[in-house]
Amino acid sequence: MPDGSPLPSNTMPLFEQVTFVGTGLINGSLARDIRRLGLAERLVGTARRQATLDEACMLGLVDEATTDTAEAVRGADLVVLGVPVGASGDAARAMAPGLRPDAIVTDVGSVKARVIELVAPYLDMRRFIPGHPVAGTEESGPGAAIDRLFEGRWCILTPQDGTDPAATDQVAALWDAVGSRVERMDPLHHDKVLAITSHLPHLLAYNIVNTADDFEGVLKGEVLKYAAGGFTDFTRIAASDPTMWRDVFLHNKAAVLEVVGCYIEDLMALQRAIRWDEADALFERFESAQAVRREVVRAGQAYKRIPNGKYQRADSQRLLSRTFG
Ligand code: NAP
Repeated sequence: MPDGSPLPSNTMPLFEQVTFVGTGLINGSLARDIRRLGLAERLVGTARRQATLDEACMLGLVDEATTDTAEAVRGADLVVLGVPVGASGDAARAMAPGLRPDAIVTDVGSVKARVIELVAPYLDMRRFIPGHPVAGTEESGPGAAIDRLFEGRWCILTPQDGTDPAATDQVAALWDAVGSRVERMDPLHHDKVLAITSHLPHLLAYNIVNTADDFEGVLKGEVLKYAAGGFTDFTRIAASDPTMWRDVFLHNKAAVLEVVGCYIEDLMALQRAIRWDEADALFERFESAQAVRREVVRAGQAYKRIPNGKYQRADSQRLLSRTFG
């Protein structure tokens, strides 16, 4: 739905009370969409710090907020866990005493298998629907929350044997209502796919920025001066929250180490091709990568930052023809 278009007149609340455990970028953005679309009657937030909750209330993301997690989830028919993945178990333990027996709990964590393990001791796993909206920005906190973050983006749900299908359908209906394309996947498969499409690129960005920074002394400020030559894009990704990404790598260790191994092999092949002037080999690798970009744009999964600081899907014909002739 484009900005400024009227709200759908037939929207019905899907939930009475949604409680957000963690009130940052992702949960805050979901809260904005739920409120705008009238998908819940009451929104409650909890976080570690009172300052975060004060900001979330001031921005109107939630109606009520408390740092007491059990109190925050009391009465909720849907709880959305949106904390760094390593904190999922502690958050589940904290919410357990206040949960309604029929409450559905879901999460938005970037890793799925490990989150399931962490929360399992504390929750009724028949009503825990693991989820991951594949959308975000490099910013964090309630102030970074934006409308329509999830529109046109995938949301992957990873229900397991024994998960209540009706609860899964309700969570899927929520993501569908905020404009996401919902996919169901095995948790380990999710973690492998995201290791290559999201986790590895972030690791490379962090590393490239630090390598370049190490050169800064030698190059006397010229890394920053000429940053527009490709470096800027990496600095944007590397500005992502260090706690969140530390947790992603520690909790998706096997899949990430596997793709890092493959990446190093491919990098060494490129290194060798450069050393031995293998022009055709270099050209072929670059040409096949260019074709991948074309497919990503065609699939509507390429976004570019526009001057107002927001993201716009880079899928116009103009962009396709400009980039690829
Ligand atoms: P965020 O903006 O940094 O917000 C994190 C929230 O969790 C804050 O309310 C924070 O409260 C709370 N929190 C932090 N550490 C905690 C702890 N140890 N125990 C309890 N609460 C804690 O993070 P986000 O970007 O929304 O990410 C939330 C989840 O979404 C993560 O699991 C991440 O993997 C996933 N995700 C992120 C993106 C992305 O692009 N950012 C995309 C998809 C999924 P305080 O402010 O009080 O510390």
